[in-house]
Amino acid sequence: MIPDTTRTIRELADGKEMPLLGLGVWQVPDGPECVNAVRWALELGYRHIDTAQAYRNESSVGKALKDSGVDRNEVFITTKFLPGAKDPVDEAEQSLRRLGVDQVDLYLVHWPQDGPTWAWPGMERARELGYARSIGVSNFSVAELESVAATATAMPAVNQVNFNPFAFRRALLDACQRHGVTLEAYSPLGTGRLPSDAAVGAIAARAGRTPAKVLLRWCVQRGVPVLSKSTRRDRIADNGQIFDFELTGEERATGRPRPHRRHRERP
Ligand code: NAP
Repeated sequence: MIPDTTRTIRELADGKEMPLLGLGVWQVPDGPECVNAVRWALELGYRHIDTAQAYRNESSVGKALKDSGVDRNEVFITTKFLPGAKDPVDEAEQSLRRLGVDQVDLYLVHWPQDGPTWAWPGMERARELGYARSIGVSNFSVAELESVAATATAMPAVNQVNFNPFAFRRALLDACQRHGVTLEAYSPLGTGRLPSDAAVGAIAARAGRTPAKVLLRWCVQRGVPVLSKSTRRDRIADNGQIFDFELTGEERATGRPRPHRRHRERP
């Protein structure tokens, strides 16, 4: 089968659709830096923004969305429930207020701090109340997903995890597929470390693309939605151009395994 390199959307098991590429704003300070990054991304055609209660920059995401003039319904917005907080429903209400929207597209349990199933009933309530179109989890292992599967009314639509050629997670991908969960990749550039890797650089030179593009393409060519972060307009623009080329089988191989860190965003 010839891959469709222009495909930009992933269908979720709950019937909703998610753009394959998103801008993430972890470690982007609330204020002009975050507003600019999100505004540039929207100007440049991104339609997927990933924030979290823990990032403390939802207000800037909301301001950029409003200032951009882009129709709210065209943009897929994710935020994440901060574990340790009392109630996913109350916290969702606060997030919606900060974001200036009636509903997010995806609401995730940021990490399984209180056990894998503790927050899930509250997440389901948040969706029933219309606060989120889809709900999911983040940083969940195979065993943690299996625990949710044993008790949930509906499975998480998404599990957002660290995933790149150096953190390839076959068992987790298989478990997600088994349960109809879409694996979404964070830190595709290794939080900035991987574009300077020699093997990635060699592939990028052959493909005539930047290393960052190769790393992002590696995800979307597997149908894995991917989030990259930059506060530089030139990089946001470059990272957005990944739907017009294809990696060969060899170039899609995985790299040296590196330990993936969990719960790295925990305060
Ligand atoms: P990443 O996208 O893997 O890497 C971002 C870093 O790479 C930044 O330092 C950026 O610097 C640099 N960069 C961006 N584009 C580049 C390019 N074209 N060439 C060279 N360097 C480039 O970062 P990440 O923040 O770890 O992950 C992305 C998003 O995933 C986060 O923002 C967040 O939304 C999400 N995430 C979620 C979790 C979770 O627990 N759920 C954990 C981590 C991340 P500049 O900004 O200076 O360009």
